[in-house]
Formats: sequence, structure tokens, C-alpha cells
Amino acid sequence: MLQLDQHPTGRHFLQIPGPSPVPDRILRAMSLPTIDHRGPEFGALGRQLLADIKPIFKTRQPVLIYPASGTGAWEAALANTLSPGDEVLMYETGHFAALWAKLAVRLGLKPEILAWAGEDEHLPQAPSWRRGVQAELIEARLKKDVDKKIKAVCVVHNETSTGVTSDIAAVRRAIDAAGHPALLLVDTISGLASADYRHDEWGVDVTVSGSQKGLMLPPGISFNVPSARALEAARSAKLPKAYWAWDEMLEMNKDGYWPSTPNTNLLYGLHEALEMLAAEGLDAVFARHQRWGAGVRAAVTAWGLPIQCADSAVYSPVLTGVIMPAGVDADAVRRLIYERFDMSLGTGLGKLKGRMFRIGHLGDSNDLTLLATLAGCEMGLKLAGVRLAGSGVQAAMDYFAAHAAAALKRG
Ligand code: PLP
Repeated sequence: MLQLDQHPTGRHFLQIPGPSPVPDRILRAMSLPTIDHRGPEFGALGRQLLADIKPIFKTRQPVLIYPASGTGAWEAALANTLSPGDEVLMYETGHFAALWAKLAVRLGLKPEILAWAGEDEHLPQAPSWRRGVQAELIEARLKKDVDKKIKAVCVVHNETSTGVTSDIAAVRRAIDAAGHPALLLVDTISGLASADYRHDEWGVDVTVSGSQKGLMLPPGISFNVPSARALEAARSAKLPKAYWAWDEMLEMNKDGYWPSTPNTNLLYGLHEALEMLAAEGLDAVFARHQRWGAGVRAAVTAWGLPIQCADSAVYSPVLTGVIMPAGVDADAVRRLIYERFDMSLGTGLGKLKGRMFRIGHLGDSNDLTLLATLAGCEMGLKLAGVRLAGSGVQAAMDYFAAHAAAALKRG
């Protein structure tokens, strides 16, 4: 077991799907002295951040920045738009979608859970945890809701527990096709700044996100982006809210300030992250995540192990879930890799505990970091007695090298 006072040499491989490794540049920015959050320098920082964050969500709407983890922003999205006893349609793509539904119950809402109920060979206990949202199920359910009792549809854009994305534009089309007024609430906590996301174009009413994934920051900041309709709904929504209330925060944000003390040093980090993302360009950011995802999947396929996402159209560019052969405890494999090779992999969550592990490929990474990650997995799997069909590391090397060769050819 590693002791805190005996840190091994080299960098720990933090290959969980968030918190992701924080670049040194961001760590340095966060080490600057904390300033007066009511002073002029802070106001200028706040105004700049509130403007510069909008392109990340592809929105012209205001973005609310909370000193909170993602769960807080989940609560804020529901509390600001809904009233006690409201029915909400929540699609279960995985553990995080299920947790959001649990939170809705605690708030006094009535969630109805939709899930794909087909057969699945590898995960019969959770078939819908291998696929994205089936928008036609949402459309069919909303069409039956003739009294328009359902007030919101909640979906997760990138399910961090499974490595599956969902087509948010298709969900918007489904709601429109049903002629239903429900608001569309989307969690892109692990999708933002890694997978393409378009708040305005996709007609999302509230986007929820967080700092510790594609933004390459430590945990502690989360976001809400309300549409004009969501802001309108907030005027009559009756769920109790104080800390999370949009109105007070939006009023103070006009001048670059917050109603309570914001996390100043994390905001320095956010400023740095936004500069880094703008310099690289979002399309390039998405392309490198796609490349990493494809390289990691090439490795898992070469090992002969099932990728958790069963639909190649919705593979996550952020993480890959790897299903273990029956009888192999995925957590024992993870533990061995942690102890022998100083690497953290994501655990199987909820219904999938022990059945799979998750490889994060997001944020401040590169092809070689991922090759080393895959080498750690391959060695650990072999040490744990898992029979592999072939070398995943070689397959990923071939993939990344072919990619580099194509780029060289293009010049
Ligand atoms: N939603 C998704 C998709 C997540 O990945 C997470 C955390 O990993 C959450 C919600 C909850 O966010 P937090 O743990 O920051 O409260």
C-alpha cells in the first residue's frame, strides 16, 4: 500500500475520468495570492471569466459559476426551474443519471425513469448502461402525456460511469416532435471541453457542468447555463432555493461579483484553462480526445475484452469502460495496478461494481501518457491472470503512429 509520506518517484498516473490531471500552468496560476473578492481587480477578473466561458458552452446565454461540485449544479438546475411534486422524465444511461434522479426525489420532485430494456449478453443486469439515450422512447412517453404533467426531461451527455455519450440534439428533436413544453436539462459534467457540446444550437434549457474534467481544474467549480425559457420558468418555480438561486447571482454577476465568497484561486485556474483552450481551439481539443478514445479502444479490442459502450456511434471520447471476463474482480485488478504501477483507474460504479473498470483519456494528456496507461493496464491484467488475445499497447501504438503518419503526409 502506498503511504502519503512515501510518495513514489515520478508522476502518479491519474487515469480516472475526472478529476483529471491538472496542468502545471494551471497549478501555478492558482498559487497566486488570494485577492479581495469585493475589490476592483476581482471584478475585472469576474467580468472576463463570465464572458470567456460562454464559447466553451457554445452559448450567448449567461453562465452561472458556483463554488460547488457538480452535484450542487444538478440541484441548482432543478431547484431553479421546478416546483414541489413536478414530474420529471429522467433517462437512465448509467450511475450518474441514476444519482441525479435520486437527488430529484430528495428535492420533492417525481422522477419517472426511462431506460432501454433490451437483452445484453455482457451486462444483463444493466442493458441501458451500455447505450446512449434512445430519443424515440422519450418522444413516445411525452406523446402520452396529454395533460403536459411532465415539466422537464433530464439526460446525461457523457455518462462518466459507462463511457457512453448521448445525442442531445436528437433529444431536443424528440421533445419538439411530441409537441411537448417540457424543459430539457442536460448534464455535461464530464463532456464539456472534451466532447463537442452546443447549448444554444441543441436547444438545451439548462446545462450543468463541472471543473474537474475537460477544463483540467481541480474539483470545486460547477456551472449552470439557463436558456431564456429556463429563466422564464425560474420566475414561477417554487422549489425552495437560497444558495443556488439564479436571480441574485445573475444580478451580482453583471458587475463581475458573486453574492457569497467565490473560490478565487480556482477562478485563477479557470482563467488559465480558458486561455489554454482558446489557444488550442475547441475543434483541436475535441479531435485529440477522439484520437485518444480510438487509440484506447484499439487496445481494448486487441486484448479481446468487451468495451462497455455497445454502440460505436456514441463512444465517449473521454473514457472507455472495460468489461472483465466473468469471475474476474475488476477492483482487484485496479488495486494491483495501483499498488504495483502507481496508476489510478476508475472503479465500476453502482450496479457495475467489480464488473468493469474505466480508463480516463481526457484533459492534460498525450499519446505517450496513454500508451503508458495502457501498458500499466496490460501488465496488471496479465498479472491478475486475465487471458488477453493480443497486445493492446501494440495496437494503440500502431493507431497513434498511423495517425501521426497521416498528419505528416498532410504537412
Ligand atoms: N454527473 C456526472 C456525469 C459526473 O461524472 C459526476 C461526477 O463525476 C457528477 C454528475 C457529480 O459531480 P460531483 O461529483 O462533482 O458532485
